[in-house]
Amino acid sequence: MQSFSELTALLESKGIKPSLQRLLLLDYMYHCHEHPTVEKIYADLAAQGHALSKATVYNALTLFVQKGILRIVHLDNSEARYDILTNDHGHFVCECCGAIYDEPVDFDQLNLQFPEAGSIRQRDIFYRGVCKRCKDKG
Ligand SMILES: [Zn+2]
Ligand SMILES: [Zn+2]
Repeated sequence: MQSFSELTALLESKGIKPSLQRLLLLDYMYHCHEHPTVEKIYADLAAQGHALSKATVYNALTLFVQKGILRIVHLDNSEARYDILTNDHGHFVCECCGAIYDEPVDFDQLNLQFPEAGSIRQRDIFYRGVCKRCKDKG
């Protein structure tokens, strides 16, 4: 999706020093649409021959989230998952295959009321069930 020079420009525009490790991580995130956990990111990068430490991966992810390049989503459990899509969108979780799908949700049309909210940082919504792919197999 993005070349390394584009990723470099993105990091620099956010005031992040574009080290090779950060570029590898960002490149991985642009290609992974599974909302991976830090464990999965670490394992996949290691499998690709990139020996980043878990602390390096975690620290870079945290920095990317702070700078608005990634978003954290919490679904079923407390484990943080990282999402390259930073606009508001919904998730559909398949209880059959475990896939997490990005779904377009028009939050403004939902007209949900949160009278106690002082300010809202992120809007999340997720539905669970069986995805089309699993259902068609079924
Ligand atoms: Zn499924
Ligand atoms: Zn998502």
